[in-house]
Amino acid sequence: MPKDLTGSSCQDYAAQFLKSLFQRPRCDWCQHVEQPLYRRGLCRHCYRISRQIVRSEAVRKQSHQVRGSIPTSHLLALDLSAKTARRMAVLAKSEGQAYGDIHVRSVGGLALERQFSRLSRCFVGRDLFDGDATLFDWSFTLNQKRLLDYLVSSLNREFARRHRQGIAAAQITHGSASRS
Ligand SMILES: [Zn+2]
Repeated sequence: MPKDLTGSSCQDYAAQFLKSLFQRPRCDWCQHVEQPLYRRGLCRHCYRISRQIVRSEAVRKQSHQVRGSIPTSHLLALDLSAKTARRMAVLAKSEGQAYGDIHVRSVGGLALERQFSRLSRCFVGRDLFDGDATLFDWSFTLNQKRLLDYLVSSLNREFARRHRQGIAAAQITHGSASRS
């Protein structure tokens, strides 16, 4: 890459970088361009979730068949475990829908403001970018905004992946799983 990129060269590089990145084979669920495919069209993270669904459903069904000898609280815990695994799959697929087309999407300043705001709340517990949508719109070209969106989203995605199970369990506990 040239040392001093300015103007259209910079825009071109952003577009080329994203194009080459999104040409890679991607996970069917999360569409992550930096997570190599592992098995059955899924990355390791999503494949683990798919196995967790199969295992938790099998244990749940088996336990309900002999429910007389198993405490109700244990059966409920197994139901919750199966629901959580299914919810994790929904979240992984939602991640793919949210970030799978950044390279061609019309990324606006508001979308960037939301990404930076989410990151800010994670790091410092408050939003340092509230109202900055116009700043992004007036400072960056479309391809530069796409690249910024990709870079910031990679941090937000990593956080979501690391906390997938807890986020899924919290959504089920608070009843949001039934609405999606
Ligand atoms: Zn995946």
